Amino acid sequence: MTDTATANRRVTLYRADWVLPVTAPVLVNAAVAVAGERIVAVGPVSKLASSYAEAEVVDLGRAIVMPGFVNCHSHLEYTTFRGILDDSEFGDWILQLVDVKASLTPEEYLHSARLGAAETVSSGITTVADTTYTGASIKAAGEAGLRGRVYLEVFGIDDARIHDTMDALDARLDAARVAAPAGMSVGVMAHAPYTVSARLFQAIGERSRSEGLEVASHVAESRHELTYVRAGSGKFAHDFREKLGWERMLVQPYGVSPIKYLQQWDAFNEHFLAVHCTQATLADIRILRAKDAAVAHCPKSNAKLGCGVAPLADMLRLGVRVGLGTDSPAASNIMDMFDEMRTMLLLHRATERDVTVLDAERCVRLATLGGAEALGLAADVGSLEPGKFADLIAVDVSRSHFEPIDNPYSALVYGANQDDVFLTMVGGRVLYRDGAFSTIDEAAVRSAAHAVRERLQDRVRVGVKVGAAESGWWHPGLATPGDER
Ligand SMILES: [Zn+2]
Repeated sequence: MTDTATANRRVTLYRADWVLPVTAPVLVNAAVAVAGERIVAVGPVSKLASSYAEAEVVDLGRAIVMPGFVNCHSHLEYTTFRGILDDSEFGDWILQLVDVKASLTPEEYLHSARLGAAETVSSGITTVADTTYTGASIKAAGEAGLRGRVYLEVFGIDDARIHDTMDALDARLDAARVAAPAGMSVGVMAHAPYTVSARLFQAIGERSRSEGLEVASHVAESRHELTYVRAGSGKFAHDFREKLGWERMLVQPYGVSPIKYLQQWDAFNEHFLAVHCTQATLADIRILRAKDAAVAHCPKSNAKLGCGVAPLADMLRLGVRVGLGTDSPAASNIMDMFDEMRTMLLLHRATERDVTVLDAERCVRLATLGGAEALGLAADVGSLEPGKFADLIAVDVSRSHFEPIDNPYSALVYGANQDDVFLTMVGGRVLYRDGAFSTIDEAAVRSAAHAVRERLQDRVRVGVKVGAAESGWWHPGLATPGDER
């Protein structure tokens, strides 16, 4: 046997009626050749079958093979909060979330994150940019075999304690880096401008510039945040601070937008991911562009919580790196990137009164390569190209509501949902095929999550906060609800 034949034996060809490389035109009756964890070729079946004559062929049939989705913003550990805060506007929602978050133990957060990881895998998301306070999603995403980045959530408004806060953060980062599996990096989520002081943003920004630390933050998400930063007043200055026992901490009116404010404190650089940005002005977008900060666009979460619609068209026009995020099930219920793409397209066409603002192909690009670019991972994921990781999914388009298909991008964005995914592969490893998981005991995960939810509701009803210290909201040294008892 020749060396070439031996090499061919290790190649698997995944054939489908359509292959969407994203960086190249759609291929009909095509395949992706995978060897180990990488893609070695993408092209018409006839060509690849002769180049890799010894390769195993997996025929996926009437399907679309595309890169796995890159979910630019999630909170896997909030998955058991699905559907309990459905009808609150953002300010009330986050006030209630404070209590809900304080009602789970670290072990229960792990069960919650595992439920989120299962949905992530089966819905065709292969890279997650997840926010975690407890670290649960590092373990859950790692067990599931997902790729991505976890951002450790940090809160802190007391500048007298800033060194303690940074020391504690360093210890958490060290532990998280040890715990993180290959393919999973660790960054910092500076929660938001109303829960993180200017000096703490500045300290984290310095770390980012000197060490390349990846940083994210919920930025310009709501009108409440705008009022808080600009005028030092409103619901976040009053109700929210009272809730957290922060009334004695000075609230400073900064007189500018949240994005301008963060620029003044040197928060932004190419390692910064600004999540939401619904309130961003054109001047704000120019700041993000000038600093090469990226944006995680979460249209469904923003719409459901009444926050608004981020100015995506202006961001794209000015060349800001933008990815798409589902946000947590506490906000937007499901982590379905098809639904997220569809909502994005419809919202922007409706609000701009312009159908040219987005098309289906652009949506798929934002949900895959756009996300990879926003996270700085585009050299390895986000498209089907030789040399990149074999992170791909197959979408079943054999059912009648897809037929006939001229444009597979159109089929995906206007017609598909997460249940149509029947194959999820990360780094050449099949994590999900035809309803079965290779890394997750789904029945056990669901049953554990049900039990967590029942205990959660009992605790919320009677006001028991078993996990206040793990919820992150209470700054070390400040009173927690546990101290009151
Ligand atoms: Zn979030």
